[in-house]
Amino acid sequence: MAVTATGARTPFIAGNWKMNLDHLQAIAFVQKLAWSLKDARFDFDEVEVAVFPPFTDLRSVQTLISADKLSLRFGAQDVSAHDSGAYTGEISGAFLAALECGYVIIGHSERRTLHLETDEQVGAKAVAALKHGITPVICVGETADDLAEHGPSAVPVAQLTTALENVAAGAEIVVAYEPVWAIGSGQAATPEQAEQVAAALREVVRTRLGEDAASATRVLYGGSVKASNIASFMRQPNVDGALVGGASLNVEEFSSICRFKSHVGT
Ligand code: PEP
Repeated sequence: MAVTATGARTPFIAGNWKMNLDHLQAIAFVQKLAWSLKDARFDFDEVEVAVFPPFTDLRSVQTLISADKLSLRFGAQDVSAHDSGAYTGEISGAFLAALECGYVIIGHSERRTLHLETDEQVGAKAVAALKHGITPVICVGETADDLAEHGPSAVPVAQLTTALENVAAGAEIVVAYEPVWAIGSGQAATPEQAEQVAAALREVVRTRLGEDAASATRVLYGGSVKASNIASFMRQPNVDGALVGGASLNVEEFSSICRFKSHVGT
């Protein structure tokens, strides 16, 4: 699904709910989102859409998507680097795979800042996800200080280079470039900055995972994406979608972001 029959990368719009919506709210939200996209005659073959609810919602979301045969995809917000054992509070990739999670977000800046996750741990989690057939959405991004000191690309490139150290060549991954200063701030990066860093990250994928992976890997932009600015990011050749936080919690706003093709020329 990452690449169409013509070799183009399928755009990917991902909604990171963070710690919002319990399992009952999740069911209502996914139903409304599915109706909104159906009303708009949304083509899921043209744009892939996934939601990333809290762990406790995953079984409910899986059951709804399966019962109603919805084309929405879903994933988790984190995964353990370990398969099982004495790791209180952690969730195994095996458990996520059993719930048919297609994706898992790894290395979100909130995990890096609040839980001190390192690039090496992010890499170990990516390997664990892939082992269980789950595509890791590997998040990288610079802080405002990093930006002032090193420019936009250096830190995300270093983070991804380390995270991919033990990932096998040709692996299917998604990369999310999320400048930390843009997350939840209302101040998005410019499309030109997103493109510059996305191109640099694609080069890292090329070096680490090979040419085919570099052409197939979706690189997302994340950080204050809204319906009003998604089109400007989607016009960039190396930006293949968005990881959306706050705006993914509003059905109409998120639905409009998913339908960026209808306003990409505006
Ligand atoms: C995020 O948390 O991944 C994110 C991009 O948040 P927001 O869209 O709210 O900036």
